[in-house]
Amino acid sequence: MNDSNTVRRTPWPETGSRPLVTPLQPSVVYVSDDPDALDAQYADGSGYTYAREGHPNAEVLARKIDALEGAEGGFVTGSGMSAVAAMFLGLLKAGDHVIGADQLYGRSLRMMRQDLPRFGIETTLADATDAEAIRAAIRPETRLILVEVISNPTIRVADMEGILAVAREAGVLLAVDNTFTTPRLYQPLLRGADIVLHSVTKLLAGHSDATLGYVAAADPALTARMMEANVTFGLTASPFDCWLAERGLQSFGLRLDRAEANAAALAQALSAVPGVARVIYPTLSGHPDHNRAATVLGGRGGNMLSFEIEGGRAAANALVRAAPDIAFAPTLGDVGTTLSHPASSSHRLVDAEARAAVGISEGFFRVSVGVEPADMLVAEFTAAVDAARTAS
Ligand SMILES: *Cc1c(COP(=O)(O)O)cnc(C)c1O
Repeated sequence: MNDSNTVRRTPWPETGSRPLVTPLQPSVVYVSDDPDALDAQYADGSGYTYAREGHPNAEVLARKIDALEGAEGGFVTGSGMSAVAAMFLGLLKAGDHVIGADQLYGRSLRMMRQDLPRFGIETTLADATDAEAIRAAIRPETRLILVEVISNPTIRVADMEGILAVAREAGVLLAVDNTFTTPRLYQPLLRGADIVLHSVTKLLAGHSDATLGYVAAADPALTARMMEANVTFGLTASPFDCWLAERGLQSFGLRLDRAEANAAALAQALSAVPGVARVIYPTLSGHPDHNRAATVLGGRGGNMLSFEIEGGRAAANALVRAAPDIAFAPTLGDVGTTLSHPASSSHRLVDAEARAAVGISEGFFRVSVGVEPADMLVAEFTAAVDAARTAS
């Protein structure tokens, strides 16, 4: 039997028909006409040759996020942490110093504390709600400051105006992990930051089915260095994940606006529920950074809130069990509401004293509010808090 008809690829039908939906292109390699053509392609950097170096689904997704962020030529990475890694690997060298906000995403903190030092890069963590604390950490070798606008899980708002001024004055790059805020609440490059990065996994893709990141610098030369690191260290995104994320992104604005309205309603409602010790949401008047939040976030609050109930682990267990339809999962940004408990997840290994210092008790919960009907969420959370109160 001759297998050639099945082994050799059949040409794609050239019909002139254009699909409405972005095609999914999983090809790892691209075929060239002859060595001259391949040579010319490498020389001018046009088209695609090998998927680790770039592929159409990553390109389409990156252009969409560029448009949201007011960026040019940003690129997609295999995860949010790949975006952080591509930035550090592309821009830093041994002997450099980096400043990070002291309440960064857990893995970013780990990278600052444990991994960068292994490569001879010293790091300092400082409070991003206090620009003077950031200024005080600057050294002659400081190259970069990494902050998140809204801290996780304490929902504090960074002093972005102050930090922008400190970074500019010192000639240090300012990178903003914009995952929590999204370009709907804050656009780092348009405010004067040098680098914006995302875990696209979260609100941008929005359906907990794709793991991706994105990074762009205002200076194309910096973007090129980060992109080179992305290719060399193999941090490339999968075409299928990019394709899913592009689809998710189509409803991003609608989802975020609806989730934000829900979060504001839930924050307000929870504030009045007996047994709730405090609710942390940027537009609540009792928020510790209330005035700054209004300026930095343009009066918006986003979809993330945290709250604390009275009672210890037993009350926390009872609350989660009393809300079986709200996914108890250590993530955020899903189309549906998810609930997380930092003391047993992201902050498990943080000692009790350090945890208490930032207000994370056994009764502390973080909510990533989704797009369900608001009254349903309020009823579910109210009943869950009530069950926790009875249990403790
Ligand atoms: C989730 C997250 C990351 C890491 O993203 P992954 O896609 O999980 O690698 C980085 N920063 C923030 C703020 C995040 O929430």
